[in-house]
Amino acid sequence: MRIAIIGAGISGFSAARRLRQLLPEAELRIFDRRNRIGGVLETLHKDGLQIEQSADNFITTVPWGIQLCKELGLENDLVQTNPKVRRTYVVRNGKMHLLPDGFLMMAPTKLMPMAITPILSPLGKLRAGLELLMPSRKDDMDESMASFVKRRLGREVYERLVEPLVSGVYAADMEKLSVLATLPRFREMERQYGSLIRAMQRQLKANKQARLAEQSGARYSMFITLRSGLATLCQTIAEHLQRDRFPAAIQLNKEITAVEKAAGGWRLAGETFDAVIYACPVSETAKLLRTAAAAEDACPAMLRPLTMLADKLSGIEHEGTAIATFAFDAGQIKQEFRGMGFVVPKIENNPILAGSFSSLKYEHRAPKDKFLIRVFAGGARNPHLADMPDSDLVPMLFRELRKIIRIDGEPLFSAVSHWAGTMPQYHVGHRERVREIENIIDSMTGIAVAGNAFHGVGIPNCIQSGFQAAEKIAAELTRHLTKTNGN
Ligand SMILES: Cc1cc2nc3c(=O)[nH]c(=O)nc-3n(C[C@H](O)[C@H](O)[C@H](O)COP(=O)(O)OP(=O)(O)OC[C@H]3O[C@@H](n4cnc5c(N)ncnc54)[C@H](O)[C@@H]3O)c2cc1C
Repeated sequence: MRIAIIGAGISGFSAARRLRQLLPEAELRIFDRRNRIGGVLETLHKDGLQIEQSADNFITTVPWGIQLCKELGLENDLVQTNPKVRRTYVVRNGKMHLLPDGFLMMAPTKLMPMAITPILSPLGKLRAGLELLMPSRKDDMDESMASFVKRRLGREVYERLVEPLVSGVYAADMEKLSVLATLPRFREMERQYGSLIRAMQRQLKANKQARLAEQSGARYSMFITLRSGLATLCQTIAEHLQRDRFPAAIQLNKEITAVEKAAGGWRLAGETFDAVIYACPVSETAKLLRTAAAAEDACPAMLRPLTMLADKLSGIEHEGTAIATFAFDAGQIKQEFRGMGFVVPKIENNPILAGSFSSLKYEHRAPKDKFLIRVFAGGARNPHLADMPDSDLVPMLFRELRKIIRIDGEPLFSAVSHWAGTMPQYHVGHRERVREIENIIDSMTGIAVAGNAFHGVGIPNCIQSGFQAAEKIAAELTRHLTKTNGN
């Protein structure tokens, strides 16, 4: 059994790991056009400082990240966020204010902090409080995040709190972002309890009781990272594949430009495989599927699903982002922080989407006398920033950062990374589109897809998507083998 994986990011490597467990005899090739493994996950070490070039950490409420780290023996490498600064600032009129205590992504759980926050006007607060009385929507139709939040909590909570918090994660246009594909639990709360505030308060109470009932076991902060850097994740999977003598050859600097149907399988990079897992961005998967459909000998029965799949995948739009990390002497930062970062609402007209006090959030990233601030820009709000030349981008972001934070002098250095076309946009109707994509894939053998374009952009979701792709292929090949042996 020979399996090809296109893409050496966390999705591709998760698929490889699962295949090793399910089909230990299979032969695997992982291809990537870059000269390193990890995909967007890249950790830079410079002058004793640790800089994450893309993902900074991952969420612990979605289980697959922690589970994989434990399986890989990385449990002791996991680091929690600094408990002294587990708050977030929101910028209003150029100044940072702490997000009202208990405000969780979409809705408040505590009324007093909402009542006294300077982020909202008295009218905005009043409108938010009326959420308890707003009629609830009972149907299953999708809607945009903007429509949902304005409907429940009013325009001001949307513009000043939810829009910047969600933009900082999805880099998306909230008027298009699907609530059902991104934060469906909030629609469920509305349906079940008639109010987000009521639902959140009940949930909080239930969580507290569950925690009290918990006798043992390590508890993690909502986000965690790896002390050695997130690039370790793929490197460790690669080491395990080698250690277990799983014949997984990783071919870097190898761009796959065509995949063709061959007798009993697929042909790519001059070799024939029984199955292909596409763990590259879906725009690339669509391009490759079209090469297969365009081959002269493509049989008509195959052609239709391949083209349909390519069309559906191309319909998922992507945006790019840029990250600039600035390094300072600690003394250059002229204020104390009670939070680990800030988000900037669109109405502030600032090119920065969000910022993170990277070495305060995770203290291992810099010695005590240094300070790292990381700035996130681009996305649907300012797509042109994703590929703006560094010579323009860096001074502009630093100028804007200085308007928000008191900084003395110039940074010691900055590190910039550009991630063009890497952020899938879960627009209204996304869930339905993904269902159609999965139906087509389920109807075909020897093909699976993995990545961040389907059920979540975060690392834990990518890991799960890799596992599922591997499980589909393993089930098909095992079935085929059983049939062949039976004959
Ligand atoms: C700036 C940024 C910040 C983020 N922050 C967080 C965060 O804090 N927490 C979190 O959980 N998630 C975060 N994410 C999301 C998360 O990091 C990604 O969704 C995830 O790492 C994507 O992994 P992947 O393997 O699916 O894709 P990728 O990492 O993009 O890997 C795909 C690989 O396919 C290769 N490839 C493409 N085409 C071809 C081809 N034709 N032939 C060969 N190889 C090809 C590419 O070179 C690439 O290496 C962030 C993402 C970005 C961009």
